[in-house]
Order: sequence, then structure tokens, then C-alpha cells
Amino acid sequence: MEQVSVLIAGGGVVGSAIACALVERGISDVCVIDLDLAGTYASSELNAGGARATWWQEVNVASCRDTIEFFREHAETFSFRPWGYLWLYEDRALFGKALERRALQTRLGLDIEVLEPREVAERFPLIDRGLEGIVGATFSPGDGLLNPNAVRRWYRERAEAGGARFLNRHYVEGIELVEQAPGRRRVERVHVVELAKSDATDEGRTIERVLTQHRVDPELALDHPSIRPGHFVNALGAWSPLLDAKLGTRSVSVPVRRQISMVDVRERDLPAGVDLKRLGMIVEPSGLYLHSEGPYVLAGYSDPAEPSGYAFHYDGDAFFTEQVWPRLAGLSSAFERCGHVRGWAGLYSVTPDCSGIVGRVAGVANAIEAHSFTGRGVMQSRAIGRGVAELIVDGRFGSLDLSPLDARRFERDRTHWVIEDLHI
Ligand SMILES: Cc1cc2nc3c(=O)[nH]c(=O)nc-3n(C[C@H](O)[C@H](O)[C@H](O)COP(=O)(O)OP(=O)(O)OC[C@H]3O[C@@H](n4cnc5c(N)ncnc54)[C@H](O)[C@@H]3O)c2cc1C
Repeated sequence: MEQVSVLIAGGGVVGSAIACALVERGISDVCVIDLDLAGTYASSELNAGGARATWWQEVNVASCRDTIEFFREHAETFSFRPWGYLWLYEDRALFGKALERRALQTRLGLDIEVLEPREVAERFPLIDRGLEGIVGATFSPGDGLLNPNAVRRWYRERAEAGGARFLNRHYVEGIELVEQAPGRRRVERVHVVELAKSDATDEGRTIERVLTQHRVDPELALDHPSIRPGHFVNALGAWSPLLDAKLGTRSVSVPVRRQISMVDVRERDLPAGVDLKRLGMIVEPSGLYLHSEGPYVLAGYSDPAEPSGYAFHYDGDAFFTEQVWPRLAGLSSAFERCGHVRGWAGLYSVTPDCSGIVGRVAGVANAIEAHSFTGRGVMQSRAIGRGVAELIVDGRFGSLDLSPLDARRFERDRTHWVIEDLHI
């Protein structure tokens, strides 16, 4: 049976960032397995390319701030464009909360301007409608846009150059756990996907073997090739609940579909002085966001009324006409006659407080989890990768304390949580 120091399930941006950080810490015996490294159903490949640090929970602000700093250092490689995030508010209470959180964000080193509607009109001539409903706005000039695929590729190439292996078409079929109680060594095979709450203590069980299946080879599929991991990391993104089930631990994450439309705007419809090719992120009051993407405008939105689930279909013209166009046209006359080019849909993995999960898996000594980063996985990736590598190599977080992201927070009642209301 093959043995590796660290086995990472999931080769999206998070799994790749972890592999990269491990190699940087001198651990080259790292294996990443993925069902489909091309990322057909990976959130990393379906991403909108935004990066901001204006979150409401300190750990999210700090991890995004550090990751954006890393993007800035490699701006050319990642096509990082610091064109800022403009956030428009219609709801007074929400705007008040944003101002309250600005104090925390400023303390953590961010530069955030507060704008009155008049200033929005002056500085962002594209926005020539709906200003009467706006109570205020924030603008964070250090935030920006980037190519998320280039980020994932960079992590992977660096990890591979340092010895890490990425195995495609492998999926986690089962997990063998060993009971570690004194005098007992019981091997438990879990193949059935079934949610169960674990009552084991932290040191209770260890992952003995991870049974993988190579999908394209029917013969291999019969004998379940297996890997014995020193440490095992669940970096399956929106698919992480399936692994929680195999480990017998409770999952709190749900997949939520987000759709993206590419919009064509006619040059002659633009107000004077607007360069659509340099449009940073704008978030309008109902939560639709937009920014320039090549010759088009990219607009993303999730319908809050839609039930959670593994849905990847794009609703096409119906989505554009009913959800995207009215919001865009409510913001600017430039969108009155815009066209729908195409679009796609992908999954946010959302937890009850809309923050990711990073830490040791309760009840399984050598298992670590890093998943469910809602709409934040790329912009947090460098800090998460480093943190998980530190947890494995040093036994604790070092560069940034990620312990507020430990899943055990959900065992406390919700009055202890900091809920990221603005998780887009
Ligand atoms: C439409 C959209 C827009 C977004 N916009 C932004 C944005 O602007 N900025 C930002 O930072 N974030 C954004 N996000 C969120 C971000 O993309 C995710 O948080 C991030 O990509 C998660 O990365 P991951 O590596 O955790 O998961 P994923 O990228 O989903 O990777 C998980 C991997 O696990 C593999 N896998 C699944 N099951 C198995 C199995 N059983 N065995 C082996 N492998 C398996 C999958 O093939 C996949 O490659 C957006 C997401 C979507 C959907």
C-alpha cells in the first residue's frame, strides 16, 4: 500500500494552495487526488475573479488582506487589477453595520472610503440611476480583480516543482478508521454516504487508509487502490459534506448555486468618461455584482429564495431577463439596451455563519479540513494554505490565527458567531 506524508482530497484552489505551502515548508511527500482536475464541477473554475478584504469577521479580513498582498506581489502573473470595490447601500441598518465594521477593517490596515450618493455620482459616472434610494456607499481602492485560474495554476505548478503529485480521476471511495482506545484496534470501513454525528473524542480515531477509485480503469475500480496518509486534508469545497459522511462527522455546509451572466454593452450608450474595460467591482443594493471582463461586463447573482442543492445549470435568458437586466438597468442608463452573451453557474459552499471551515476534524486525530469558503475561497487561499501547512508541520497556526474558523464553533449557540451577512 502506498504511503504519503499528506494526502489532500481536492485539487481546487484551496487544495492546491495547501500543497504549495507544504512544499514551501519542506514537505514534498504530498499527494493531491481529484475526481477531475480540469474542474468541471469545481468552484475554482467557475469563479468571478474578485478579491476584497472588507469582511466583517476579523479572521476573514486578515486572511483576505494577506492573500491580496500576495496577489499584488505577483500582479502580472495573476492579472491582478486593483480597481477597487464600490458597495452601494439602500438599507440604513446595513449601511450602519458596514460603517461599524469599517473601524475593525481600518484597524487591520485597510483603506475604506465612505461616500455620499452625490460623491458616488461624481466619481462613478456610470451610475446615473437609482441614486435617490442610496443612503451611502463604501469604496475600498486596494481591492480588485484577478484571474483565479492563474492563481490555482501557480499553486499547483509550484507544488509539483517541489515534488507534490496531483492524481487526476481519483475519487475518495472510502476511509478506513482505526479506533485508538487502549488495548483495542478496531478497523472500521465507511463506504456508505450517510450523515452521522460523531461522539468520538479528538484522539479517538485515526485514518488508516483512504481507498481511492480510479474512474477510467474498471479493473482498478475492483480492488480499491489505497493510500496510507500521515495527515489527510478534506479540501473538497462544496463536496466536503460527502467526505464528512465517510468520516462519520457532522457537516454544516450546504451548496448554493450562483449564476454569472456576461453582458454586452454598446460603447455609444456609455456616459462620457466611462471606460468599461476598467470597471472595478460594483455591488448594487440587492447583492448583484458587476465588473468588466475583457470586452464584456460580468454580472453575478444568487437568488436568496432558491433552495440549496447541487445545481449547475444556468438559467440563460430567463435569468438574465428577470434577475440581471432589471438590476443593471436600475443602476445605469448604459444597460438599457445591453445584450446577453452567455453565462454559467457554480456552487458556493455556505455555512451557517457564512465563513469557511479550517482546522482539525473533531474525533479523527490525523484529519484536517479546509473548505466551505462561500464566495471567498480564492481571495483567502494563500492564508489558508499557509495556515494548514503550519497546522501539519508545527502543530499550530503561526502566520495568522485561523482558529476562529474551527468547525467546533457551531457547537456553541449562534449568539457567539460573527455572521458574514455580506458573503457575496
Ligand atoms: C459563480 C462563483 C463565483 C465566485 N466568485 C468568487 C470571487 O469572485 N472571489 C473568490 O475568492 N471566490 C469566489 N467564489 C468562491 C470560490 O470559487 C470558492 O470558494 C473556491 O473556488 C473553493 O475552492 P476549493 O478548492 O475549496 O473547492 P473546489 O474548487 O470546488 O475544488 C474541490 C475539488 O474537489 C474535487 N472533488 C469533489 N468530490 C471529490 C471526491 N469524492 N474525490 C476527489 N475529488 C473530489 C472536485 O473535482 C474539485 O476539483 C465563487 C464561486 C462561484 C461558484
